[in-house]
Amino acid sequence: KRRPLIAGNWKMHKTVPETLAYIEAFKPLVAGVEDRDIMLAPPFTSLDAAERALEGTNIKLGAQNCHWADEGAFTGEISPKMLADIGVTYVIIGHSERRHIFGETDEMIRKKIEAVLKYELVPIICIGETLEEREEGKTLKVLETQLKEGLQGFSSSDLKDLVVAYEPVWAIGTGKTATPEQAEEAHAFVRKILAEMFNQEFADGVRILYGGSVKPENVVGLMARPNIDGALVGGASLKPDTFAKIVCFG
Ligand code: 13P
Repeated sequence: KRRPLIAGNWKMHKTVPETLAYIEAFKPLVAGVEDRDIMLAPPFTSLDAAERALEGTNIKLGAQNCHWADEGAFTGEISPKMLADIGVTYVIIGHSERRHIFGETDEMIRKKIEAVLKYELVPIICIGETLEEREEGKTLKVLETQLKEGLQGFSSSDLKDLVVAYEPVWAIGTGKTATPEQAEEAHAFVRKILAEMFNQEFADGVRILYGGSVKPENVVGLMARPNIDGALVGGASLKPDTFAKIVCFG
């Protein structure tokens, strides 16, 4: 049985004092939770302070993005080496906002995964179709291409801790959640493609998170589905009490 992972992606929100106040409030709300993994991904400027504040808790730290090189002339970028150095555990890669606003390609995403693995960080690769792609019936094809290109050239042992996040672009920040049926169909398909690319045992171990307008009110229905192993939560992760309700579902 896969261990659930409930992850909060703060996107471009919260200063350092706001981060510390959040963690102070959030820690006791989830203190007893031992049967699932919890992750917070603050912005880069808050990571170091968050790492210290989370020490000794059951909450892991994630970054929202990274570059693929260790260092170099890449103004404005942050490397996995730097993230590993300050105690980050997970790195979100290829979020739809990175793909669509900042032009990230599947090849860039593949290079970022390679770099993250080199530092033994856990990649969370995000995939998902736009509304137009869904309406044209291309959803599964889009997911297949994103997986095949992004994970090309790795072995199943390279990717042993891999996390996939299915985030339909039309459900992100819109309040329109995919139905549990829509999400389950996509997740089951992702697992099938992973089994074809690697093997069934590997595919059965990969955690596939759903993201897109997850709230305390809809998390239970989503998590009841066999192939939904967790959630990647944006807006509803910004308030400690709301996110704690999602973490403590069921
Ligand atoms: P919302 O939960 O705000 O829809 O964002 C989802 C998301 O993009 C998480 O990475």
